[in-house]
Amino acid sequence: MAEGVFTYSGGRVEPGETDDIRFPVSETYLGDPIRIPVTIINGSKPGPTVYLSAAVHGDELNGIEVVREVAQEWDHDGLEGTLVCLPVLNVPGFMAQQRYLPIYDRDLNRSFPGAEDSTSARRMAASIFSEFVEPCDLGIDFHTSTRGRTNMLHVRADTDDPQVARLAKAFASHVIISSDGPSGSLRREATDAGVPTITVEMGEAHRFQRDLIDRALDGVVSVLAEYGLRPTDAVRWPGWRTIVGDQDEKTWLRANAGGVVEMHHTQGALVHEGDRICTITNPFKAESDTVCAPFTGVIVGVLENPLVYPGNPLCHLVRLDADTLRAVEREQLNAE
Ligand SMILES: [Zn+2]
Repeated sequence: MAEGVFTYSGGRVEPGETDDIRFPVSETYLGDPIRIPVTIINGSKPGPTVYLSAAVHGDELNGIEVVREVAQEWDHDGLEGTLVCLPVLNVPGFMAQQRYLPIYDRDLNRSFPGAEDSTSARRMAASIFSEFVEPCDLGIDFHTSTRGRTNMLHVRADTDDPQVARLAKAFASHVIISSDGPSGSLRREATDAGVPTITVEMGEAHRFQRDLIDRALDGVVSVLAEYGLRPTDAVRWPGWRTIVGDQDEKTWLRANAGGVVEMHHTQGALVHEGDRICTITNPFKAESDTVCAPFTGVIVGVLENPLVYPGNPLCHLVRLDADTLRAVEREQLNAE
């Protein structure tokens, strides 16, 4: 790639230029192109190339608005580097309002880095990956909880990798869940290919949640400041932060009875050991099963659909150490 120029199959974006591209990644049964929206903003000054992607799961809408606002509403005068904005990766899923690609229900987010002579999902993934992910220096992939659940804004990242840890911390979320991520996911495969990538989880599928979108936009500002793309902005400190392993300190509390769940807390709530988290009842039951917090922590995710079988997840509780707990309590005191 020539110095400062962003090139892709069929075009180039010069320094100081912005291009809105509809890039073909597949074809419909009618033979029409399936095209993903891409906005390339090439700053007038050189710097890192950062991709922002959303809706790799087609029904996860909050991130679409985060990427759209960055691409279309921000003032990019003085940008030092390039932004590759990919607001809807899974166009067929988005059109059908569903998580997976409608073709055999494939998960596009298990199909990276893709392969050109493979399934339709892997071909799409390969096109996205080689054109718009591999040329970047780092990236953020926006998700929401799966349908029927919701989660507080948090980052998932492999913090054992120092470059990914730097990116994850720069986003300035309270909670970072550390893991290398599932094989075939954009986050893991991009990171393995030398493009440190984090996932941001925020809220519910099928919803548009302004408060979460605004907080995620603050996170993007902070990341771009950390890497010098927007030198006049500052890197944020979230006030308190906890980094937990994928298996150890986080716990999904599961239902031990089938029925209807009344949840007594929302995502982001602090609960102390022994606090009542939810109750499960059913149409013939006068008394309900009570589920209590096994330890003190923050509720990162909760169910939204209240119907459960035994074994279904109720909420995702992340343990807080004593120092972090004090910081959270201080913050909540100040907020009142
Ligand atoms: Zn997702």
